[in-house]
Amino acid sequence: MYPNKPLSQLDDLNFDNNFIRDLPCDKETHNYPRQVFDACYSKVLPTKVANPQRVAYAHEVSELLDLSPELCNSDDFTHVFTGNRITKGMEPYAICYGGHQFGHWAGQLGDGRAINLGEIINKKGERWALQLKGAGRTPYSRTADGLAVLRSSVREFLCSEAMHHLEIPTTRALSLTLTGESVIRDMFYNGNPKAEPGAVVCRVAPTFTRFGSFQILTARRDHTLLKQLADHTIRTHYPHLGEPSPSIYLAWFTEICQKTAEMIVHWQRVGFVHGVMNTDNMSILGLTIDYGPYGWLENYDPNWTPNTTDVEHRRYRFGNQPEIAYWNLGQLANALYPLIEQVEPLQAALNVYTKTFEQGWQTMMADKLGLNRYQPETDESLFSDLIALLQRVETDMTIFYRQLAIISRHVNNNDEALILPLMPAYYVPEQLTADYKTYLIAWLNRYIKRLQEDNSSDVERRKRMHAVNPKFVLRNYLAQLAIDKAETGDFTMVNELLDCLRRPYDEQPNYERYAEKRPDWARQRAGCSMLSCSS
Ligand code: AMP
Ligand code: MG
Repeated sequence: MYPNKPLSQLDDLNFDNNFIRDLPCDKETHNYPRQVFDACYSKVLPTKVANPQRVAYAHEVSELLDLSPELCNSDDFTHVFTGNRITKGMEPYAICYGGHQFGHWAGQLGDGRAINLGEIINKKGERWALQLKGAGRTPYSRTADGLAVLRSSVREFLCSEAMHHLEIPTTRALSLTLTGESVIRDMFYNGNPKAEPGAVVCRVAPTFTRFGSFQILTARRDHTLLKQLADHTIRTHYPHLGEPSPSIYLAWFTEICQKTAEMIVHWQRVGFVHGVMNTDNMSILGLTIDYGPYGWLENYDPNWTPNTTDVEHRRYRFGNQPEIAYWNLGQLANALYPLIEQVEPLQAALNVYTKTFEQGWQTMMADKLGLNRYQPETDESLFSDLIALLQRVETDMTIFYRQLAIISRHVNNNDEALILPLMPAYYVPEQLTADYKTYLIAWLNRYIKRLQEDNSSDVERRKRMHAVNPKFVLRNYLAQLAIDKAETGDFTMVNELLDCLRRPYDEQPNYERYAEKRPDWARQRAGCSMLSCSS
């Protein structure tokens, strides 16, 4: 009768669990750690918790699920999305996958602390899988507890939504709840375990299937199941490609290469460093997935990695992300090989990654600088000299690009006035030597000359630049301040950041404080400049 009326109870969610319908289930029904063969998932229920409490929810995501605001404010919502009540249509399960961790095959990993509730079809006909992260042990938990702490859950919740509003493909986050129970964590693995508040994030995505979901099957030479999972994934998530066949598998892999390249271009655009680009953390849809020890570039440093486990080799450093995505796609190509049995076309698809990334990167850089289009003769060196310049002294990436939009293409012959708009981007004023200023001014003059060739108006260019150079990103220290407050029971900053990061490209005078560069105290503080995988 009321097709667009939002749902007023969670039992009305329209579940259609085709992942478990199409694919084989683990025969063992008891929940204990094990290797799971001949199956894509195991049925497992979330662990009930003492006293769930809602910290925040994203109304945009609840709207994807057709939930009314009243429903989202109900106790039932909090209980259901912490795992205390299974609603009609939910069929909870954990997925089996493997992966390469830090370049080494790690065998079976799987949803060790994620429990899928099922997939709903919303009123628009979209399919959304719901998953609780931190809802207790599963057959894939190995020796760990299946739980998540508040600090990492705040980070996952806020960053998922921040990325979405930056227009970057990502899994979403519906809700962040406290379990009311504590979890023991040794944050830096240095013999200092402490009790932390336990939390659950309800993640939402069309699917959570990863590169590693296919890798584990090929590693086990289970080509029948490999085909079944590939067919399911194509039919459900890539239906435009047509009925699965060897040529369709290839078209599918090519599209994954393209989507992954586009995602990485976005990461490089905003200064996002994933931190753990293991193949089990790579989405088959090219979504940013698994927000662990990620970070945002503050001073522009391509060698920076936020992950303390990665500081030695810096495999997952900012500047290496494009290379690692390529390597990970190579592992996926190996996993899909039994379906295609030809090396050259797989290699050609990998080349599509390289090409898509290169072209995407050039266009993205041209957009960041407000150029009409990339012109190799002038712009290749304009970009590379800029990147060198950004590294010469500690320069805040976000502020630099944002302020660059203020530069006028009408020549300003006063050098000090020319560089004035960029001053807020610098961390250490003493580094701005006469020598440095000479380089900066020389580059700016080239840039201005280039803008003059384009002949677009300053106002119009500024608008375009502001649409790709965010003013607000989830700065590492801001997330940490929100966590510090949340750990005392004050969730205002989590909710303010969620609100502010909804409009990252807009000037928001009431949130000016969230656009400030990293304060000095945050330079070396845990959670601000370095993060561990412990979560
Ligand atoms: P990650 O590095 O967070 O992507 O996790 C790698 C693997 O470890 C995945 O299989 C996770 O499910 C698993 N894992 C991480 N933390 C936990 C935990 N607290 N309990 C159970 N499994 C976990
Ligand atoms: Mg993971």
